[in-house]
Amino acid sequence: MTTETREFQAEARQLLELMVHSIYSTKEIFIRELISNASDALDKRRYAALTDDSLKADDPHIAIEADKDARTLTVRDNGIGMTRDEVVELIGTIARSGTAETLRRLRESKESAELIGQFGVGFYSVFMVAEKVTLLTRKAGEETGVRWESNGDGTYTIETTGDAPEGTSVTVHLRPVDDENGLHDYTEEWRIREVVKRFSDFISFPIRMGDATLNSMKALWARPRSEVADEEYREFYRHISHDWTDPLDIIQIRAEGTFEYEALLFIPARAPHDLFQRDARGGLQLYVKRVFILEDSRELLPGYLRFVQGVVDAADLPLNISREILQQDRHIQLIRRRLAKKVLATVKTLMKNEPEKYRTFWREFGAVVKEGLLDGTDSQKAILDIASFATTASFASPAADEATSGDEATSGDTTAPDDTTASDATTAPDGSSAPDGSTAADEVTAGNGLTTLADYVARMKEGQDKIYFMAGDSRAQVQNSPHLEAFKAQGYEVLLLTDPVDEIWVDAVRSYDDKEFQSVARGAVDLPSEEKPSEERTGAYAPVLSWLNEVLGEVKEVRLTTRLTVSPACLVSDMSGLTPALEKMYRAMGQDVPSAQRILELNPEHPLVSGLKAAYEERADDPALAETAELLYGTALLAEGGDLTDPARFATLLADRLSKTL
Ligand code: ADP
Repeated sequence: MTTETREFQAEARQLLELMVHSIYSTKEIFIRELISNASDALDKRRYAALTDDSLKADDPHIAIEADKDARTLTVRDNGIGMTRDEVVELIGTIARSGTAETLRRLRESKESAELIGQFGVGFYSVFMVAEKVTLLTRKAGEETGVRWESNGDGTYTIETTGDAPEGTSVTVHLRPVDDENGLHDYTEEWRIREVVKRFSDFISFPIRMGDATLNSMKALWARPRSEVADEEYREFYRHISHDWTDPLDIIQIRAEGTFEYEALLFIPARAPHDLFQRDARGGLQLYVKRVFILEDSRELLPGYLRFVQGVVDAADLPLNISREILQQDRHIQLIRRRLAKKVLATVKTLMKNEPEKYRTFWREFGAVVKEGLLDGTDSQKAILDIASFATTASFASPAADEATSGDEATSGDTTAPDDTTASDATTAPDGSSAPDGSTAADEVTAGNGLTTLADYVARMKEGQDKIYFMAGDSRAQVQNSPHLEAFKAQGYEVLLLTDPVDEIWVDAVRSYDDKEFQSVARGAVDLPSEEKPSEERTGAYAPVLSWLNEVLGEVKEVRLTTRLTVSPACLVSDMSGLTPALEKMYRAMGQDVPSAQRILELNPEHPLVSGLKAAYEERADDPALAETAELLYGTALLAEGGDLTDPARFATLLADRLSKTL
């Protein structure tokens, strides 16, 4: 057999280098990583055997062998194994799309050594302790095996071999012991036992060393909350999620009755980088009576909760259930609805009791959760209740505090009887209690300058019956938009919505607590305390307005407004028309929509507007007037972050005018 020497892919090389030079003190995690991979491989083989009986493993297990004299540690499994191509693909490169990002953070971080433990570096973690690593593998059902070897210097060797048993073994040739730098003697049996117990007790296959089985194999979700240490949940979470940050919260559900299932869910503390990518991983693991069936089962939770991690173990499903059947199964749909409800309720509890965690949740996942408002499901209300938004209001005023201080705080466990949830007993997995450094304002609002809808409604002014919002691309853009001027001047609070999904859901949801959502950039302003432009004035402006309408072909209408107090002009959309953001979004989605025709609104109090009127009355034929109109329109467009059709022309006109003022 020929031995081939190959180079690791560039990213993999960088990661290797980090590992080789790591001074991270918890080096024993490499054992956990190897066991985790072995366990996954056994799961995959068991699943494959459901449809091909010949692939079934005798006595599926993981074996650990230590050789003190040779200074090697071997982790062996009789799982699915790998073909030669798979070894090259899976071990020689880093496929996980998050790794580039991880690497960047690791390299940028000054204390990268400490950070390593927080990331799922997987197989490569062996190079923290190894001089050389030998991997021997044979894919279940195949004839030939593969031998792979590397000392972590950027290249590896690979050859096919006849004498590999089915499954995979990884032999780590350990570097000399260096206790001072956290490199302990990993051939010592007591140490290995301790590491397995601490990190891998829940693994559902026996982990053997000699005749002894080191792990209890108890399914974590089947054990009462009180008997499971936080550390165990954390390790389990890492195992299933590959997220090395501790979860924000843990939800345990046991449903009894005609359709029994148990679920253990984790709400992550960090959004995966691929949250908005179509092909992103997501979904829960499905077990049937403790047997792993499917990973990434998206059927078990609605899409807007795709970031939730965990396990569902259903008692009454057939072992060979397929994804197609899952999608139609009535029980699965019930589970899905139930889990979604539970997750939302848990977030609501966080909001009340652990505002800091809630804020993290909303910052990381709010934009996704809001997608749930689009499909018209029964969760709409629950989602609106846990949503929070940036706003023009500041909460420093005591009045705002008073308005909503009737918080009942912890209202005890109100879950259904079959819902032996532990979420109320939820301690942070790190054992910390709720940080209560929040200010009064934080408690009544969502904090960080965000407000809940309930708090917004509680602060609504006398006579106000709408929830005002301004939607756009960025906080800065909407916050300073001319559309807000009158609202600000008269003390009407406006929600500032900047997630792409926002404009769509406000359209779909329409109202909260019987108060309609109203865009401040759509239709005419109708602030309760607002006077309309007087008829006299409108009449006097009629000629110049209709002239403007003619000159500015792009706009549908030109009219006076009272919404502006500072700016001369702004653009608004028709009540029924698309806003520019919506138009852009539909276009991006490949839909052909008519381009939104806008209305130019003018502030008659502004000298530019009154001056233009006077000038028009005096010398309607002056070509410079049309240019002024163009400039006026252009500035309105720019103020809302829009795109000029002819920016160069605009710049020339403006420079021309400016030079005349000097
Ligand atoms: P991760 O486990 O996070 O995907 P690793 O670097 O640990 O990343 O492993 C990369 C891939 O190599 C795994 O996803 C798996 O497909 C394959 N692999 C690793 N160890 C084994 C094993 N013991 N048996 C079969 N495949 C394995």
